[in-house]
Amino acid sequence: MAQNQAIEIEGLTKTYGGSGKQPPKQALKDLNLTIPAGSIFGLLGPNGAGKSTTINILAGLVNKTAGRVKIWGFDQDVNPRQARAAIGVMPQEINMDPFFTPRAALETQAGLYGVPKAERWTDEILALVGLTDQAEAYARNLSGGMKRRLLLAKALVHRPQILVLDEPTAGVDIELRAMLWANVRRLNQEGMTIILTTHYLEEAEAMCDEIAIIDKGALVVRDTTQNLLGRMDGKTLVVEPESPAPADFALPEGVTLERRADGRLAFTYHRKAVGAESVLDAIRAAGISIRDVASEQPGLEEVFVSLTSHHR
Ligand code: ADP
Ligand code: MG
Repeated sequence: MAQNQAIEIEGLTKTYGGSGKQPPKQALKDLNLTIPAGSIFGLLGPNGAGKSTTINILAGLVNKTAGRVKIWGFDQDVNPRQARAAIGVMPQEINMDPFFTPRAALETQAGLYGVPKAERWTDEILALVGLTDQAEAYARNLSGGMKRRLLLAKALVHRPQILVLDEPTAGVDIELRAMLWANVRRLNQEGMTIILTTHYLEEAEAMCDEIAIIDKGALVVRDTTQNLLGRMDGKTLVVEPESPAPADFALPEGVTLERRADGRLAFTYHRKAVGAESVLDAIRAAGISIRDVASEQPGLEEVFVSLTSHHR
């Protein structure tokens, strides 16, 4: 049977127990979220929003306080083995045995998941993440980037239907980032559902079909990336004048002007309230002749700020 939802989260609550002088900390408050099968799904939110807590609960690394989690249709509490088998997680923190080689780490991981020898694809995974040449090197001798590649490799040994990446590109170099995204796209095209968190909103905008933003342990919004971007009504028209623009001139109501260092003029307005034509009319009326004009759409960054700032 085709699986429609990769993940179904209902009323998920997590309170980290207070120890010593630390008061208890509620990291998730009645979180509800479904993630469709086949997508590249972005889980975004400010620092401390509860992204890693959610992912670590999915991975079975953190126990939830309350709520229900279904992974590939399997309730975590009813069918823990099947739920665990359906998901592979690349954690945010690097944690590995320094005396294991990448090959040994992958073979051990495959053993933990009960993957029979004949069904292992260790060499293919090593090639996929670019660790073939380091297959026999001790993990403690691997660079930070290579350790991250190994974390991705470990998440793949049991061929999970769902791959979860927690801040996979935080602090990694451009080459590794490109390698990661190429792999993620390829795995997704081959049918794997991908869930990722990232601090780089441009990356989420480029990679994700759908996005959920969480803040303070609760869902703020969940929509397609396209719809989220469409919510933003702001628009900026950037004009390069033939000659320096006059110091002061009249603008239609609702239009703000920013003079950029390179001499260009950036006019920002709400599309629903002001038409581009009236902005261009004002520019012509001021005697400015236009050498070039470009338009800038708001990105996910603006969406994110507008949806999470009122919570603070
Ligand atoms: P994110 O990944 O979105 O930055 P986290 O899930 O790591 O957020 O953290 C959510 C909240 O839970 C934060 O306030 C964090 O300090 C707290 N927290 C996370 N892990 C623990 C823990 N092991 N013990 C106590 N508090 C924790
Ligand atoms: Mg985190």
